[in-house]
Amino acid sequence: MMQTEQVWAEPWKIKVVEHLRMTTQEERQAAIAEAGYNTFLLPSRQVYIDLLTDSGTTAMSDVQWAGLMRGDEAYAGSANFERFERTVREYYGYKHVIPTHQGRGAEHILSRLCIRPGDIVPGNMYFTTTKLHQELAGGTFEDVIVAEAHNPDSEFPFKGNVDLRKLEHLIARVGAEKIPYLSLETNVNMAGGQPCSLENIHATCDLCHRHGIPVYLDATRAVENCYFIEQRESGQSGRPLAEILREICDRTDGCTMSAKKDALVNIGGFLALNDDALAEQARNTVVIYEGLHTYGGMAGRDMEALAIGIEESVDWQHQHARVGQVQYLGQRLIEAGVPIVRPIGGHGIFINAVDFLPHIPREEFPAQALTAALYIDSGVRAMERGAVSVGRDAAGKNIYPSLELIRLTIPRRVYTQAHMDVVVDSVARLHRRAEQIGGLRFTYEPRYLRFFQARFEPCQGTSVLREL
Ligand SMILES: *Cc1c(COP(=O)(O)O)cnc(C)c1O
Repeated sequence: MMQTEQVWAEPWKIKVVEHLRMTTQEERQAAIAEAGYNTFLLPSRQVYIDLLTDSGTTAMSDVQWAGLMRGDEAYAGSANFERFERTVREYYGYKHVIPTHQGRGAEHILSRLCIRPGDIVPGNMYFTTTKLHQELAGGTFEDVIVAEAHNPDSEFPFKGNVDLRKLEHLIARVGAEKIPYLSLETNVNMAGGQPCSLENIHATCDLCHRHGIPVYLDATRAVENCYFIEQRESGQSGRPLAEILREICDRTDGCTMSAKKDALVNIGGFLALNDDALAEQARNTVVIYEGLHTYGGMAGRDMEALAIGIEESVDWQHQHARVGQVQYLGQRLIEAGVPIVRPIGGHGIFINAVDFLPHIPREEFPAQALTAALYIDSGVRAMERGAVSVGRDAAGKNIYPSLELIRLTIPRRVYTQAHMDVVVDSVARLHRRAEQIGGLRFTYEPRYLRFFQARFEPCQGTSVLREL
Protein backbone atom coordinates (compact mmCIF):
# COMPACT_ATOMS: atom_id res chain seq x y z
CA MET A 1 0.00 0.00 0.00
CA MET A 2 1.19 3.51 -0.80
CA GLN A 3 2.75 5.42 2.08
CA THR A 4 1.34 8.89 2.66
CA GLU A 5 4.78 10.45 3.22
CA GLN A 6 5.81 9.49 -0.32
CA VAL A 7 5.11 12.01 -3.11
CA TRP A 8 2.03 10.79 -4.90
CA ALA A 9 -0.27 11.83 -7.72
CA GLU A 10 -3.75 11.08 -8.98
CA PRO A 11 -4.22 7.42 -10.04
CA TRP A 12 -5.60 8.48 -13.44
CA LYS A 13 -4.62 10.56 -16.46
CA ILE A 14 -6.72 12.96 -18.51
CA LYS A 15 -8.29 11.64 -21.73
CA VAL A 16 -10.76 14.44 -22.55
CA VAL A 17 -10.57 18.10 -21.55
CA GLU A 18 -13.33 20.63 -20.99
CA HIS A 19 -12.30 24.24 -21.48
CA LEU A 20 -12.74 26.69 -18.62
CA ARG A 21 -13.84 30.24 -19.28
CA MET A 22 -11.98 33.09 -17.58
CA THR A 23 -13.93 36.22 -16.63
CA THR A 24 -12.92 39.67 -15.39
CA GLN A 25 -13.71 40.94 -11.91
CA GLU A 26 -16.16 43.46 -13.42
CA GLU A 27 -18.04 40.66 -15.18
CA ARG A 28 -18.19 38.65 -11.96
CA GLN A 29 -19.36 41.66 -9.95
CA ALA A 30 -22.26 42.07 -12.38
CA ALA A 31 -22.99 38.33 -12.51
CA ILE A 32 -23.26 37.88 -8.73
CA ALA A 33 -25.50 40.96 -8.38
CA GLU A 34 -27.69 39.55 -11.16
CA ALA A 35 -27.76 36.23 -9.24
CA GLY A 36 -29.00 37.96 -6.07
CA TYR A 37 -25.68 37.17 -4.31
CA ASN A 38 -26.64 33.50 -4.33
CA THR A 39 -24.04 31.23 -5.96
CA PHE A 40 -26.80 28.69 -6.74
CA LEU A 41 -28.25 31.24 -9.17
CA LEU A 42 -25.03 31.82 -11.14
CA PRO A 43 -24.90 30.36 -14.64
CA SER A 44 -22.08 27.82 -14.77
CA ARG A 45 -20.50 29.53 -17.80
CA GLN A 46 -19.66 32.46 -15.46
CA VAL A 47 -17.78 30.16 -13.06
CA TYR A 48 -14.06 29.38 -13.26
CA ILE A 49 -13.49 26.69 -10.59
CA ASP A 50 -16.78 25.18 -9.50
CA LEU A 51 -16.68 23.99 -5.88
CA LEU A 52 -20.42 24.43 -5.28
CA THR A 53 -20.92 20.74 -4.69
CA ASP A 54 -19.49 17.29 -5.19
CA SER A 55 -22.98 16.11 -6.12
CA GLY A 56 -23.20 14.75 -9.65
CA THR A 57 -20.13 16.76 -10.70
CA THR A 58 -17.85 13.71 -10.95
CA ALA A 59 -15.70 12.94 -13.99
CA MET A 60 -16.70 9.43 -15.04
CA SER A 61 -14.03 6.93 -16.06
CA ASP A 62 -13.55 5.62 -19.61
CA VAL A 63 -15.04 2.34 -18.38
CA GLN A 64 -18.18 4.14 -17.19
CA TRP A 65 -18.45 6.03 -20.50
CA ALA A 66 -18.12 2.73 -22.34
CA GLY A 67 -20.87 1.42 -20.06
CA LEU A 68 -23.20 4.17 -21.30
CA MET A 69 -23.06 2.57 -24.76
CA ARG A 70 -24.36 -0.64 -23.25
CA GLY A 71 -27.58 1.02 -22.11
CA ASP A 72 -30.55 -1.29 -22.51
CA GLU A 73 -33.38 1.22 -22.69
CA ALA A 74 -36.21 -1.27 -22.34
CA TYR A 75 -39.02 0.17 -20.24
CA ALA A 76 -39.13 -2.89 -17.98
CA GLY A 77 -36.49 -5.33 -16.77
CA SER A 78 -33.47 -3.68 -18.40
CA ALA A 79 -30.24 -5.73 -18.33
CA ASN A 80 -28.56 -2.72 -16.72
CA PHE A 81 -30.99 -2.90 -13.81
CA GLU A 82 -29.95 -6.50 -13.25
CA ARG A 83 -26.28 -5.55 -13.12
CA PHE A 84 -27.01 -2.53 -10.90
CA GLU A 85 -29.12 -4.60 -8.50
CA ARG A 86 -26.48 -7.33 -8.35
CA THR A 87 -23.74 -4.77 -7.65
CA VAL A 88 -25.64 -2.99 -4.87
CA ARG A 89 -26.41 -6.35 -3.27
CA GLU A 90 -22.77 -7.37 -3.47
CA TYR A 91 -21.18 -4.18 -2.13
CA TYR A 92 -23.91 -2.83 0.18
CA GLY A 93 -25.38 -6.21 0.99
CA TYR A 94 -29.06 -5.32 1.34
CA LYS A 95 -31.69 -7.69 0.03
CA HIS A 96 -33.98 -5.34 -1.92
CA VAL A 97 -32.84 -2.55 -4.24
CA ILE A 98 -35.26 0.14 -5.39
CA PRO A 99 -33.81 2.60 -7.92
CA THR A 100 -34.63 6.33 -7.62
CA HIS A 101 -33.66 9.36 -9.69
CA GLN A 102 -31.37 10.60 -6.86
CA GLY A 103 -31.00 10.52 -3.08
CA ARG A 104 -34.03 12.60 -2.17
CA GLY A 105 -36.27 10.26 -4.16
CA ALA A 106 -35.24 7.47 -1.79
CA GLU A 107 -35.66 9.76 1.25
CA HIS A 108 -39.15 10.67 0.10
CA ILE A 109 -40.26 7.05 -0.18
CA LEU A 110 -38.68 5.95 3.11
CA SER A 111 -40.13 8.95 5.03
CA ARG A 112 -43.58 8.56 3.50
CA LEU A 113 -43.76 4.84 4.32
CA CYS A 114 -42.31 4.86 7.82
CA ILE A 115 -43.10 8.19 9.51
CA ARG A 116 -46.46 8.96 11.14
CA PRO A 117 -47.50 12.47 12.23
CA GLY A 118 -45.96 13.22 15.63
CA ASP A 119 -43.03 10.82 15.17
CA ILE A 120 -39.48 11.76 16.11
CA VAL A 121 -36.64 10.86 13.73
CA PRO A 122 -33.20 11.00 15.33
CA GLY A 123 -30.13 11.50 13.19
CA ASN A 124 -26.44 12.43 13.48
CA MET A 125 -26.90 16.02 12.32
CA TYR A 126 -29.54 17.02 9.83
CA PHE A 127 -29.21 17.04 6.07
CA THR A 128 -31.41 19.53 4.20
CA THR A 129 -33.47 17.18 2.00
CA THR A 130 -33.50 14.35 4.56
CA LYS A 131 -34.96 16.60 7.27
CA LEU A 132 -37.51 18.21 4.96
CA HIS A 133 -38.88 14.84 3.82
CA GLN A 134 -39.16 13.77 7.46
CA GLU A 135 -41.08 16.96 8.24
CA LEU A 136 -43.35 16.68 5.18
CA ALA A 137 -44.30 13.20 6.45
CA GLY A 138 -45.28 14.71 9.83
CA GLY A 139 -42.10 13.87 11.73
CA THR A 140 -39.63 15.98 13.68
CA PHE A 141 -35.89 15.63 13.31
CA GLU A 142 -33.86 15.29 16.50
CA ASP A 143 -30.09 15.78 16.42
CA VAL A 144 -28.15 13.09 18.32
CA ILE A 145 -24.65 13.77 16.99
CA VAL A 146 -21.74 14.12 19.47
CA ALA A 147 -21.15 17.64 20.81
CA GLU A 148 -17.70 17.78 19.16
CA ALA A 149 -19.43 17.97 15.77
CA HIS A 150 -20.74 21.44 16.63
CA ASN A 151 -17.31 22.71 17.62
CA PRO A 152 -15.29 23.72 14.53
CA ASP A 153 -12.04 23.71 16.55
CA SER A 154 -12.32 20.22 18.06
CA GLU A 155 -9.82 17.77 16.52
CA PHE A 156 -11.92 14.74 17.50
CA PRO A 157 -11.31 12.16 14.69
CA PHE A 158 -14.90 10.83 14.55
CA LYS A 159 -17.11 13.89 14.72
CA GLY A 160 -19.85 12.01 12.85
CA ASN A 161 -20.48 9.72 15.83
CA VAL A 162 -23.85 9.38 17.49
CA ASP A 163 -23.95 10.52 21.12
CA LEU A 164 -25.28 7.32 22.67
CA ARG A 165 -26.36 9.03 25.89
CA LYS A 166 -28.32 11.63 23.96
CA LEU A 167 -29.98 8.87 21.95
CA GLU A 168 -30.75 6.84 25.06
CA HIS A 169 -32.33 9.87 26.74
CA LEU A 170 -34.40 10.57 23.66
CA ILE A 171 -35.72 7.00 23.57
CA ALA A 172 -36.55 7.20 27.29
CA ARG A 173 -38.24 10.60 26.87
CA VAL A 174 -40.46 9.98 23.82
CA GLY A 175 -40.67 6.16 23.81
CA ALA A 176 -39.36 3.78 21.15
CA GLU A 177 -42.79 3.52 19.54
CA LYS A 178 -42.57 7.21 18.55
CA ILE A 179 -39.27 6.62 16.75
CA PRO A 180 -39.86 4.98 13.35
CA TYR A 181 -36.12 4.70 12.64
CA LEU A 182 -32.76 6.35 13.20
CA SER A 183 -31.16 7.95 10.17
CA LEU A 184 -27.42 7.32 10.37
CA GLU A 185 -25.32 9.43 8.02
CA THR A 186 -21.78 8.40 7.17
CA ASN A 187 -19.15 11.11 6.61
CA VAL A 188 -21.60 13.69 7.90
CA ASN A 189 -21.98 16.35 5.25
CA MET A 190 -23.18 19.28 7.38
CA ALA A 191 -20.56 18.62 10.07
CA GLY A 192 -17.82 19.06 7.46
CA GLY A 193 -17.55 15.59 5.93
CA GLN A 194 -16.72 14.03 9.31
CA PRO A 195 -16.73 10.23 9.72
CA CYS A 196 -18.34 7.86 12.21
CA SER A 197 -16.20 5.14 13.76
CA LEU A 198 -17.03 1.52 13.16
CA GLU A 199 -17.22 1.06 16.91
CA ASN A 200 -19.84 3.83 17.22
CA ILE A 201 -21.87 2.43 14.32
CA HIS A 202 -21.99 -0.95 16.08
CA ALA A 203 -22.93 0.62 19.42
CA THR A 204 -25.64 2.79 17.82
CA CYS A 205 -27.17 -0.18 15.98
CA ASP A 206 -27.04 -2.27 19.18
CA LEU A 207 -28.85 0.40 21.15
CA CYS A 208 -31.53 0.98 18.49
CA HIS A 209 -32.13 -2.70 17.82
CA ARG A 210 -32.47 -3.43 21.54
CA HIS A 211 -35.44 -1.03 21.45
CA GLY A 212 -36.78 -2.43 18.18
CA ILE A 213 -35.83 0.73 16.26
CA PRO A 214 -34.50 0.13 12.73
CA VAL A 215 -31.40 1.99 11.54
CA TYR A 216 -31.34 3.34 8.00
CA LEU A 217 -28.00 4.43 6.70
CA ASP A 218 -27.62 7.58 4.63
CA ALA A 219 -24.95 5.81 2.57
CA THR A 220 -24.22 8.78 0.30
CA ARG A 221 -20.57 9.03 1.42
CA ALA A 222 -20.22 5.68 3.20
CA VAL A 223 -17.13 4.63 1.22
CA GLU A 224 -15.32 7.88 2.06
CA ASN A 225 -16.22 7.13 5.68
CA CYS A 226 -14.68 3.66 5.25
CA TYR A 227 -11.43 5.28 4.09
CA PHE A 228 -11.28 7.33 7.31
CA ILE A 229 -12.00 4.20 9.36
CA GLU A 230 -9.13 2.43 7.58
CA GLN A 231 -6.84 5.43 8.23
CA ARG A 232 -7.86 6.38 11.78
CA GLU A 233 -9.53 3.56 13.67
CA SER A 234 -7.42 1.16 15.64
CA GLY A 235 -7.30 -2.34 14.19
CA GLN A 236 -8.66 -1.22 10.80
CA SER A 237 -5.47 -0.24 8.95
CA GLY A 238 -4.93 -2.06 5.66
CA ARG A 239 -8.43 -3.53 5.60
CA PRO A 240 -10.15 -3.46 2.17
CA LEU A 241 -12.72 -0.65 1.99
CA ALA A 242 -15.29 -3.03 0.50
CA GLU A 243 -15.02 -5.20 3.60
CA ILE A 244 -15.55 -2.25 5.97
CA LEU A 245 -18.51 -1.11 3.86
CA ARG A 246 -20.17 -4.51 4.17
CA GLU A 247 -19.61 -4.54 7.91
CA ILE A 248 -21.42 -1.19 8.22
CA CYS A 249 -24.28 -2.15 5.92
CA ASP A 250 -24.72 -5.57 7.50
CA ARG A 251 -25.47 -3.92 10.84
CA THR A 252 -28.14 -1.58 9.45
CA ASP A 253 -31.62 -2.29 8.10
CA GLY A 254 -31.37 -0.46 4.82
CA CYS A 255 -30.08 2.73 3.23
CA THR A 256 -30.94 5.76 1.19
CA MET A 257 -28.28 6.62 -1.34
CA SER A 258 -27.41 9.56 -3.53
CA ALA A 259 -25.22 7.89 -6.14
CA LYS A 260 -24.10 11.37 -7.24
CA LYS A 261 -21.40 11.35 -4.57
CA ASP A 262 -19.48 8.13 -3.66
CA ALA A 263 -20.77 6.17 -6.65
CA LEU A 264 -19.13 8.45 -9.24
CA VAL A 265 -22.11 9.21 -11.49
CA ASN A 266 -23.83 12.40 -12.58
CA ILE A 267 -27.34 11.27 -11.63
CA GLY A 268 -28.92 8.38 -9.76
CA GLY A 269 -29.75 6.92 -6.38
CA PHE A 270 -31.47 4.07 -4.63
CA LEU A 271 -33.31 2.84 -1.59
CA ALA A 272 -32.13 -0.52 -0.27
CA LEU A 273 -34.00 -2.53 2.35
CA ASN A 274 -33.92 -5.90 4.08
CA ASP A 275 -37.56 -5.97 5.22
CA ASP A 276 -39.66 -7.83 2.62
CA ALA A 277 -42.98 -6.13 3.41
CA LEU A 278 -41.51 -2.63 3.49
CA ALA A 279 -39.65 -3.29 0.24
CA GLU A 280 -42.88 -4.34 -1.43
CA GLN A 281 -44.54 -1.10 -0.33
CA ALA A 282 -41.52 0.87 -1.55
CA ARG A 283 -41.64 -0.85 -4.94
CA ASN A 284 -45.28 0.12 -5.18
CA THR A 285 -44.60 3.71 -4.12
CA VAL A 286 -41.67 4.24 -6.48
CA VAL A 287 -43.96 3.82 -9.51
CA ILE A 288 -46.00 6.83 -8.38
CA TYR A 289 -43.13 9.27 -7.88
CA GLU A 290 -40.04 8.03 -9.70
CA GLY A 291 -40.70 5.40 -12.36
CA LEU A 292 -41.06 1.65 -12.67
CA HIS A 293 -39.25 -0.35 -9.96
CA THR A 294 -36.63 -1.47 -12.49
CA TYR A 295 -35.51 2.05 -13.42
CA GLY A 296 -36.85 4.54 -10.83
CA GLY A 297 -36.10 7.63 -12.94
CA MET A 298 -32.75 6.49 -14.30
CA ALA A 299 -32.02 5.54 -17.91
CA GLY A 300 -30.62 2.04 -18.49
CA ARG A 301 -27.23 3.57 -19.29
CA ASP A 302 -27.28 5.52 -16.00
CA MET A 303 -27.72 2.28 -14.05
CA GLU A 304 -24.81 0.70 -15.95
CA ALA A 305 -22.49 3.65 -15.14
CA LEU A 306 -23.68 3.54 -11.53
CA ALA A 307 -22.86 -0.16 -11.17
CA ILE A 308 -19.35 0.47 -12.52
CA GLY A 309 -19.00 3.56 -10.30
CA ILE A 310 -19.75 1.52 -7.17
CA GLU A 311 -16.98 -0.93 -8.11
CA GLU A 312 -14.52 1.93 -8.70
CA SER A 313 -15.51 3.75 -5.49
CA VAL A 314 -14.18 1.07 -3.13
CA ASP A 315 -10.69 1.18 -4.67
CA TRP A 316 -8.26 2.36 -1.98
CA GLN A 317 -6.07 4.32 -4.45
CA HIS A 318 -9.14 6.22 -5.65
CA GLN A 319 -10.20 7.23 -2.14
CA HIS A 320 -6.63 8.03 -1.17
CA ALA A 321 -6.40 10.52 -4.06
CA ARG A 322 -9.94 11.83 -3.59
CA VAL A 323 -9.68 12.48 0.13
CA GLY A 324 -5.98 13.35 -0.31
CA GLN A 325 -6.84 16.28 -2.59
CA VAL A 326 -9.24 17.62 0.03
CA GLN A 327 -6.54 17.22 2.70
CA TYR A 328 -4.04 19.09 0.48
CA LEU A 329 -6.37 22.06 0.02
CA GLY A 330 -7.20 22.13 3.73
CA GLN A 331 -3.58 21.89 4.83
CA ARG A 332 -2.57 24.78 2.60
CA LEU A 333 -5.44 26.93 3.93
CA ILE A 334 -4.43 26.13 7.52
CA GLU A 335 -0.87 27.20 6.66
CA ALA A 336 -2.29 30.46 5.29
CA GLY A 337 -4.03 31.10 8.63
CA VAL A 338 -7.57 30.60 7.31
CA PRO A 339 -10.05 29.36 9.97
CA ILE A 340 -11.40 26.02 8.73
CA VAL A 341 -13.27 23.17 10.39
CA ARG A 342 -10.87 20.54 11.71
CA PRO A 343 -9.97 17.80 11.29
CA ILE A 344 -10.16 18.21 7.50
CA GLY A 345 -13.13 16.21 6.21
CA GLY A 346 -13.67 13.97 3.23
CA HIS A 347 -15.49 15.93 0.53
CA GLY A 348 -14.70 19.55 1.10
CA ILE A 349 -13.21 22.33 3.18
CA PHE A 350 -15.51 24.23 5.48
CA ILE A 351 -14.40 27.77 6.27
CA ASN A 352 -15.63 29.22 9.55
CA ALA A 353 -17.25 32.45 8.34
CA VAL A 354 -17.81 33.81 11.85
CA ASP A 355 -14.05 33.78 12.54
CA PHE A 356 -13.22 34.89 8.99
CA LEU A 357 -15.62 37.86 9.13
CA PRO A 358 -15.98 38.74 12.84
CA HIS A 359 -17.28 42.23 11.96
CA ILE A 360 -20.40 40.91 10.18
CA PRO A 361 -23.33 40.13 12.56
CA ARG A 362 -25.06 36.75 12.17
CA GLU A 363 -28.22 38.56 11.00
CA GLU A 364 -26.26 39.67 7.92
CA PHE A 365 -25.28 36.12 6.94
CA PRO A 366 -21.46 36.21 6.95
CA ALA A 367 -21.15 32.84 5.19
CA GLN A 368 -23.45 33.90 2.36
CA ALA A 369 -21.43 37.13 2.01
CA LEU A 370 -18.15 35.21 1.91
CA THR A 371 -19.33 32.96 -0.95
CA ALA A 372 -20.21 36.09 -2.95
CA ALA A 373 -16.89 37.80 -2.19
CA LEU A 374 -14.91 34.68 -3.16
CA TYR A 375 -16.74 34.49 -6.46
CA ILE A 376 -16.06 38.16 -7.20
CA ASP A 377 -12.37 37.77 -6.34
CA SER A 378 -11.53 34.71 -8.43
CA GLY A 379 -14.58 33.08 -10.03
CA VAL A 380 -14.44 30.22 -7.50
CA ARG A 381 -17.96 29.08 -6.64
CA ALA A 382 -18.59 27.86 -3.09
CA MET A 383 -21.76 27.17 -1.09
CA GLU A 384 -23.19 28.64 2.10
CA ARG A 385 -23.70 26.13 4.94
CA GLY A 386 -24.94 28.28 7.78
CA ALA A 387 -28.06 30.18 8.81
CA VAL A 388 -29.42 30.52 5.28
CA SER A 389 -29.21 26.73 4.76
CA VAL A 390 -30.83 25.92 8.12
CA GLY A 391 -33.86 28.19 7.66
CA ARG A 392 -36.48 29.25 10.21
CA ASP A 393 -37.96 27.55 13.26
CA ALA A 394 -41.65 26.72 13.73
CA ALA A 395 -42.28 30.26 15.05
CA GLY A 396 -40.77 31.74 11.87
CA LYS A 397 -37.56 32.98 13.47
CA ASN A 398 -34.18 32.55 11.79
CA ILE A 399 -32.14 29.74 13.35
CA TYR A 400 -28.48 30.59 13.89
CA PRO A 401 -26.59 27.27 14.02
CA SER A 402 -23.29 26.96 15.86
CA LEU A 403 -21.60 26.32 12.51
CA GLU A 404 -21.75 29.26 10.09
CA LEU A 405 -19.67 27.85 7.26
CA ILE A 406 -18.87 28.10 3.59
CA ARG A 407 -18.11 24.86 1.84
CA LEU A 408 -15.48 24.43 -0.85
CA THR A 409 -16.60 21.07 -2.19
CA ILE A 410 -14.23 19.09 -4.36
CA PRO A 411 -15.74 17.20 -7.31
CA ARG A 412 -14.26 13.74 -7.77
CA ARG A 413 -11.50 13.35 -10.39
CA VAL A 414 -12.21 16.78 -11.95
CA TYR A 415 -9.66 19.36 -10.81
CA THR A 416 -5.88 19.22 -10.43
CA GLN A 417 -3.61 20.31 -7.60
CA ALA A 418 -2.94 23.56 -9.54
CA HIS A 419 -6.63 24.44 -9.34
CA MET A 420 -6.44 23.91 -5.59
CA ASP A 421 -3.52 26.38 -5.46
CA VAL A 422 -5.64 29.03 -7.22
CA VAL A 423 -8.35 28.52 -4.59
CA VAL A 424 -5.85 28.87 -1.72
CA ASP A 425 -4.46 32.05 -3.27
CA SER A 426 -7.91 33.65 -3.53
CA VAL A 427 -9.15 32.64 -0.07
CA ALA A 428 -5.89 33.83 1.54
CA ARG A 429 -6.14 37.17 -0.27
CA LEU A 430 -9.71 37.69 0.96
CA HIS A 431 -8.64 36.72 4.48
CA ARG A 432 -6.07 39.54 4.46
CA ARG A 433 -8.72 42.07 3.35
CA ALA A 434 -11.67 40.59 5.26
CA GLU A 435 -12.81 43.96 6.63
CA GLN A 436 -13.71 45.00 3.07
CA ILE A 437 -16.40 42.32 2.92
CA GLY A 438 -19.90 43.45 3.98
CA GLY A 439 -23.12 41.63 4.97
CA LEU A 440 -26.28 40.73 3.06
CA ARG A 441 -30.05 40.89 3.59
CA PHE A 442 -32.87 38.95 1.91
CA THR A 443 -34.78 40.46 -0.98
CA TYR A 444 -36.59 37.17 -1.70
CA GLU A 445 -36.99 34.16 0.55
CA PRO A 446 -38.66 30.99 -0.74
CA ARG A 447 -40.60 28.75 1.63
CA TYR A 448 -38.73 25.44 1.14
CA LEU A 449 -34.94 24.88 1.14
CA ARG A 450 -34.51 28.63 0.86
CA PHE A 451 -30.76 28.51 0.21
CA PHE A 452 -31.32 27.19 -3.33
CA GLN A 453 -33.37 30.11 -4.64
CA ALA A 454 -33.08 33.00 -2.14
CA ARG A 455 -31.97 36.44 -3.33
CA PHE A 456 -30.01 39.04 -1.37
CA GLU A 457 -28.63 42.57 -1.56
CA PRO A 458 -25.64 44.15 0.19
CA CYS A 459 -26.50 45.81 3.52
CA GLN A 460 -24.14 48.68 2.75
CA GLY A 461 -23.09 50.17 -0.58
CA THR A 462 -23.41 48.43 -3.91
CA SER A 463 -21.21 45.36 -3.44
CA VAL A 464 -20.27 42.83 -0.74
CA LEU A 465 -16.62 43.37 -1.64
CA ARG A 466 -15.62 47.01 -1.32
CA GLU A 467 -12.68 48.26 -3.37
CA LEU A 468 -9.30 48.94 -1.81
C1 LIG B 1 -26.73 14.92 -1.50
C2 LIG B 1 -27.21 14.28 -0.28
C3 LIG B 1 -28.52 13.81 -0.16
C4 LIG B 1 -29.58 14.04 -1.22
O1 LIG B 1 -29.26 13.43 -2.40
P1 LIG B 1 -29.64 14.05 -3.84
O2 LIG B 1 -29.06 13.06 -4.78
O3 LIG B 1 -29.04 15.41 -3.93
O4 LIG B 1 -31.13 14.10 -3.91
C5 LIG B 1 -28.86 13.17 1.02
N1 LIG B 1 -27.99 13.02 2.02
C6 LIG B 1 -26.73 13.48 1.94
C7 LIG B 1 -25.80 13.30 3.08
C8 LIG B 1 -26.30 14.15 0.81
O5 LIG B 1 -25.06 14.63 0.75
